[in-house]
Amino acid sequence: MDGAQVGALEREMDARRHLLSPAEEMAKLGSTSRPLLAYGEGIHVVGTNGRRLIDGPAGMWCTQIGYARREIADAMSEQALRLSYNSPWYTVNSPAAELSARIAAMTPGDLDRVFFTTGGSTAVDTALRFTEFFNNVLGRPLKKRIIVRKDGYHGSTSLTAACSGREGNWPNFDIRQDRIAFISSPNMRLAEGRSEAEFLDFLVDEFSSKLAELGPDTVAAFLAEPLQASGGVIIPPTGYHARIKAICEANDIVYISDEVVTAFGRCGEWFASEKVFGVVPDIITFAKGVTSGYVPLGGLAISERLLARVSGDNARGSSFTNGYTYTGHPVSCAAALANIKVIEGEGILEHVRDVSGYFAEALNSLSGLPLVADVRASGLVGCVECLADTERAVAGDLDRRLGARIDAICFDLGLIVRPIGHMCVLSPPLIITRAQIDEMVAILRQGILRAADELARGEIF
Ligand code: PLP
Repeated sequence: MDGAQVGALEREMDARRHLLSPAEEMAKLGSTSRPLLAYGEGIHVVGTNGRRLIDGPAGMWCTQIGYARREIADAMSEQALRLSYNSPWYTVNSPAAELSARIAAMTPGDLDRVFFTTGGSTAVDTALRFTEFFNNVLGRPLKKRIIVRKDGYHGSTSLTAACSGREGNWPNFDIRQDRIAFISSPNMRLAEGRSEAEFLDFLVDEFSSKLAELGPDTVAAFLAEPLQASGGVIIPPTGYHARIKAICEANDIVYISDEVVTAFGRCGEWFASEKVFGVVPDIITFAKGVTSGYVPLGGLAISERLLARVSGDNARGSSFTNGYTYTGHPVSCAAALANIKVIEGEGILEHVRDVSGYFAEALNSLSGLPLVADVRASGLVGCVECLADTERAVAGDLDRRLGARIDAICFDLGLIVRPIGHMCVLSPPLIITRAQIDEMVAILRQGILRAADELARGEIF
């Protein structure tokens, strides 16, 4: 064993003994560790064992411009040497100011004021706390409920976890949902034979009924991802968001579009709400792709019209006392500005629009395979849903084991899939080429075929 191998083994032992990771399977705590990565390069990550893997999920839907970009590293290093930190409670730094203006110019409508946070959960948490603040300042203490969807994911703070409709994340936490109401996931697979138009009517009627049941004067916000990413790339029927927004407007309900996944190029636009999904929200949250994952940053853009109701002459003596030590962190904001420059300079939004049809076709070429129940794609995010019985709409334990098996086979062949249960979600770095899309999908094809064989032989049960 050489020195590097010994070092890698030591780090794996450190992780086993001392690291608690997200979604840790507690029964295995201390007895396993996740694959140790040595470095990243373009769309690949390389393990300490030298194994080179296509990063199918782009980390966690975030490494838009790929790994090892000197432009970002240089911008961060220059900013760290110039001004590594300032308190956002009583000073401002140049990168945060410039980034707020850049983002305001990218958002739809009058969403021109930006608040920076430390990631996606804190962005959504702040958006929800803003609606709380808004209604209290307006003297409407009862207008506090939040309507969300099943299968949505919005983060890991107490409030955002309570708004997440992925029930598998709830057990053993004290999820407080007294202010939260759920409506259906807009998943065509759950349409029970309805056409897309009929399903859309059903979903809109369901929202209206929920509103009537709760009382519009008690509802503060509707929170939704443009497409439900962690829910399995669930793309709503065309026109869904605009119709729900119209009802929100009529009832003075704040429409929050959670673009933590879809912003910064994932769907071929800076923000997807208006240009891809036809809705101008009141608040948009973002994170992940804003820095291509080089350093944590998140935020939200808020409508000036909304802010005008609780600021200036309408402030009623209030201060928006929500914030973080690292709000508008100068190094994070410098990384984001450099990231935006790369996306612009290399025409990455145009590239995503250019290859998205190819990506969708490549994934769709898997739809005739055994196990494949559905294929969905938008921009450079897609899902191949695999079920032991493809006629079923809802997955069971066997399907989740199948997903894990497909992942393990693909990993051996050089692709990270990171299935969400039985759903093989791919959201590669946005710089991926057509040839690399072919390579990625060819590996997934093999993974599915081999897992189907193993299932048929009774090796997965
Ligand atoms: N909102 C959405 C739509 C997400 O997908 C995520 C994370 O995946 C979050 C919020 C939470 O973001 P973070 O993990 O950066 O806190």
